[in-house]
Amino acid sequence: MIVADKQTLSFQAEVKQVLQLMINSLYSNKEIFLRELISNASDALDKLRFGALEDAKLAQNNQDLNIRITFDKDARTLTVEDNGIGMTRDEVIANLGTIAKSGTREFLQQLSGEAAKDAKLIGQFGVGFYSSFIVADKVTVNTRHAGSDEAVCWESTGQGEYTLEEVTKAETGTQVILHLKPTEDEFLEDFRLRNLIRKYSDHIAFPVMMLATKEDEAENKDETLIDVPHFETVNKATALWTLNKSEIKEEEYNEFYKYIAHDFADPLAYSHHRVEGSTEYTHLLFIPAQAPFDLWNRDYQRGIKLYVQRVFIMDEAEHFMPHYLRFVKGVIDANDLPLNVSREILQNNKKVETIRKGSVKKILNLLEDLALNAPEKYQKFWSAFGEVLKEGPAEDFANKEQIAKLLRFTTTHDVGAGEIVSLDDYLARMPEGQDKIYYVTADTLAAAQHSPHLEIFAKKNIEVLLLHHRVDEWLVSHLNEYQGKTLHSVAKGALDLGALEDQDVKNVQAEVDQSFAALIAKFKTLLGDNVKDVRITHRLTESPACVVSDEHDMSRQMQKILEAAGQAVPRAKPILELNPYHALVKKLQADSEQPEIANWAHLLLDQAVLAEGGQLSDPAAFVKRLNQLLL
Ligand code: ADP
Repeated sequence: MIVADKQTLSFQAEVKQVLQLMINSLYSNKEIFLRELISNASDALDKLRFGALEDAKLAQNNQDLNIRITFDKDARTLTVEDNGIGMTRDEVIANLGTIAKSGTREFLQQLSGEAAKDAKLIGQFGVGFYSSFIVADKVTVNTRHAGSDEAVCWESTGQGEYTLEEVTKAETGTQVILHLKPTEDEFLEDFRLRNLIRKYSDHIAFPVMMLATKEDEAENKDETLIDVPHFETVNKATALWTLNKSEIKEEEYNEFYKYIAHDFADPLAYSHHRVEGSTEYTHLLFIPAQAPFDLWNRDYQRGIKLYVQRVFIMDEAEHFMPHYLRFVKGVIDANDLPLNVSREILQNNKKVETIRKGSVKKILNLLEDLALNAPEKYQKFWSAFGEVLKEGPAEDFANKEQIAKLLRFTTTHDVGAGEIVSLDDYLARMPEGQDKIYYVTADTLAAAQHSPHLEIFAKKNIEVLLLHHRVDEWLVSHLNEYQGKTLHSVAKGALDLGALEDQDVKNVQAEVDQSFAALIAKFKTLLGDNVKDVRITHRLTESPACVVSDEHDMSRQMQKILEAAGQAVPRAKPILELNPYHALVKKLQADSEQPEIANWAHLLLDQAVLAEGGQLSDPAAFVKRLNQLLL
């Protein structure tokens, strides 16, 4: 069987370093060696398949391409075998004795010797075949190139040298035999290996096979097969996303979604695209129909699985989806990222950035399409994930306008109808002369709906967005305008209805304001530090007073949210506005020297705070004053 003498060769210096690095820094992740070997085997099968297109010699071998994994408990060996392209002797020396990548030496010079630091670096490098030595103290590779009759055996303990000898091998392809270290018994367990294969290689295109166990056969009740050793496929062996859309049934998409998302329900929609060009990738992304219970948890795990060339790389690849699209689940299969890409590498990677941008765009387009063509589905989406999407304008500046288009609100136009009004609907209904999008924020829909600030808007029939979710303050502080129209809080700054108010009215108002000058001055003195300002307003029709925030101060709703979250916020003082047409205010103006005027001033301020759902700083004093005035 042995054709020529054994030859001993030295590894290139860099290989020794890489081996050290692998063994030291990747031990905590040792199972990945199997992924690496299966991936190499799968590459070899891919290469054979590709080569067979042009080379008749290779074409002979281009059948039943598969990967077989066997183990021998007595010999303590684990074997990964493929019938792929194989290697010639020269290739073995080049591939398994040297590292051809340029810059390797410089790279390795950065090594610190500290496992934790180096583990990050190894990610940039490429794990590959040498990871075998994490679990094996000796590795034997028997390989025969598909176009040749000669086979070669490579063997090494990973200590700086390897041996080569010519052997005979009946089948073309490569057989990697790991002589496992005494500590690695787990990789001699059928169950463990099957789990690893499914975990990492379920969707690689080739079957990964293992010998059928007796239990399996008993279950299958196929008596004829019992005791006859034969291989069975362990992985699914189809990469769904690699198929053409036209080849995939809706049902298959749904099943696939359920499989990756552990969901019982079908997804609401999916986006399946193959992108070619300088960065090539395929994505198959799903929008679930329901929100998971932990969507709002700080450490919610994002549902993107990253594959590189159909080999599973990682779950929760958060770099591919922004936080505001964290509900998206699916697979991104990148063609030109390194197989051992780590989270550290993904962080600042241009290709990742390109894939992310492209995928985000597709998801936003998908949502836009749903909104337009399947409004019922879109409404379902909105009620499950609308609150999350509202984080978008703050997080994704570039797509702000498109995200804004997808937002839905309850408005004064039809409060009972729920969150169904888009900003486009709002703009379409805007009367001539209106140049702002008005909104009110409050804790609850009822509080928003009954805010005194809305009185003038109701009177003038101007639609106002009723914002009552926590995230809304966050949203409007980042979404300042839509289609050139600013978003404006009805409770901030002086009321300016712009062209909606004609000049005659404005002149009359100015006169009215003037006639209340004495009362305003009095209130300012009496309320002192409790207010930033006191002024007459024309925004109220029923209430005597309201409080507003100064144009550039934090809104009162935002203050409340931050305080509730335990943050120390400098309290912005409110501006008290009085309704000059209200009987109470008129009466006080007529008699501003009366003895109870101080109580009246405080009472008006306190009730204005209460009316907008605020908290009094001294509720007992309020009650006392109220009772005094009642008597
Ligand atoms: P990488 O796969 O990143 O190139 P590896 O160290 O894993 O690095 O492998 C080095 C090379 O060895 C591969 O590029 C391939 O040419 C060759 N090789 C490894 N495993 C096999 C195999 N099972 N069949 C054929 N060639 C292989």
